[in-house]
Amino acid sequence: MSAPDARGAVVDGSAPGEPVHVLGLDIGGTKLAAGVVDSTGRVHSFLVEATRAEEGPESGLERLFELGRAAVDEAALDWDSITAVGIGSGGPLDAQAGVIVGPPHLPGWRDVPVSSWAEAAYGLPVALENDATAAAAGEHRYGAGAGTSHLVYLTISTGVGGGIVIDGRLYRGATGNGGELGHVTVDCSGRPCRGCGRKGCLEAYVSGTSISERAREAGLGEVTASEVAAAAAAGDAAAAEVWDATTEALACGLTSIVNLFEPQLVVLGGGVVSGTGEQLLGPVRERVRDEAMGPAGGAARIVAAALGPQVGVVGAAAIALDRVPAARA
Ligand SMILES: [Zn+2]
Repeated sequence: MSAPDARGAVVDGSAPGEPVHVLGLDIGGTKLAAGVVDSTGRVHSFLVEATRAEEGPESGLERLFELGRAAVDEAALDWDSITAVGIGSGGPLDAQAGVIVGPPHLPGWRDVPVSSWAEAAYGLPVALENDATAAAAGEHRYGAGAGTSHLVYLTISTGVGGGIVIDGRLYRGATGNGGELGHVTVDCSGRPCRGCGRKGCLEAYVSGTSISERAREAGLGEVTASEVAAAAAAGDAAAAEVWDATTEALACGLTSIVNLFEPQLVVLGGGVVSGTGEQLLGPVRERVRDEAMGPAGGAARIVAAALGPQVGVVGAAAIALDRVPAARA
């Protein structure tokens, strides 16, 4: 059964008022994820497997599409009820053309037409988006940012990604690569940034990679960001110095971001945030409130992300629901 919805688009397999189902796919450097998500944000299935990026895009995407099929089976839904596919991947990419251009997290994946391959595999419309932008859309629609109109999202893990919602709409830039909040400069003659080649980016101080690197330089050995935070809390002076420099750099970058956008809400996600929680958020919140230009600084709440490890899949689904007319509820 097909019927035109209010916008004139055809919505297959769902009666008016019923949730629309889409397939969300996430291409990470280490993990692929797939899940069926409906237009209320409910996750009906969630599957993960290793990316094995070194085996190349053909093999990786074939396994991703198979994971997507398994996710639809696990959700116990008919293919007819899936209206679109959303895909999130690290940039750079061309969101409109549906092409992954050559992201550092997927070495050897150059100019991969992921959307047309997915359209051929599933026979459904496909939307591709930068993964941090998609995560921002997911948190805005279904997570910590539900109900807000002005939001910035940062994911702090191996690197630092960002996404921006202005007036309730996702801001993606001219080709979908805007919102690189990890590359806001906090020290223009500072540490080299692996992500973009400049100096002193936020990412060069607060990514999990950088926290571990700075801990090693401070004589703490091979430790993760969470271990640095735990050692600092336990009174280790060298760890405390590394940790304080981390919260200071994050507060510095966020203050500039808050001054620029005057968001209602700053949502922080990613492994470094989930692994350290208030030990990161507390001092950052205090410092941004003190240093941001009033009244913007006082207006922005800073909170942890709500969608956890499913954010990539839920974000990709939110993009499909946003961009593919047939998938709109
Ligand atoms: Zn950078």
